[in-house]
Amino acid sequence: MHDRFHGRREAKGRLCNWPDCEEPGEFRAPGVQPSGFDGPGSYRWFCLEHVRAFNAGYDYFAGMTSDEILRAQSPLHGWERETRAFSPTAGVHDTPRWADFTDPLEAISARARSRMKAGGLRQDGRVVSPDERRALDALGLPIDADRRALRTRYSELVRRYHPDRNGGDRSHEARLQGVVEAYQLLRKAVAFG
Ligand SMILES: [Zn+2]
Repeated sequence: MHDRFHGRREAKGRLCNWPDCEEPGEFRAPGVQPSGFDGPGSYRWFCLEHVRAFNAGYDYFAGMTSDEILRAQSPLHGWERETRAFSPTAGVHDTPRWADFTDPLEAISARARSRMKAGGLRQDGRVVSPDERRALDALGLPIDADRRALRTRYSELVRRYHPDRNGGDRSHEARLQGVVEAYQLLRKAVAFG
């Protein structure tokens, strides 16, 4: 599958095709129009992060040949949209099904978002575990936070919630405990090394 993705090419004003991404589209992936009688297929262009996500998404088309995947990408080949609302209370491992989408890109994007709830991939390529992700959320930090941001945020929150700094008010104790635990976990995490 990997050979479908080529090296970086000058974007020349092309933007990444990923929804809401403003990065230059420098990496090519198969497009919605497959190669066929009517000539060469079209391409999608992505930034590095999103060509990786797109590539990873391809691996989830389990059991399909690359030709079948390309065919499935064509709107003419009848991927019928099943309307199905995602339950907001669905478990974090409850990933949307491919069949829920007409557009594979939309499906990949939604599945990636779903996986991000569990863990995640940083821009630097480091993987963040579900526990680390929860710890980051507890500290209100983004997934790409570095060690400096982690320490800054930690000392800020400790000051905010510490009873010594709140005239002995212990009402923030549970929150402080959560902050300390989150920090202890993250400071040992590989992604923040
Ligand atoms: Zn992008």
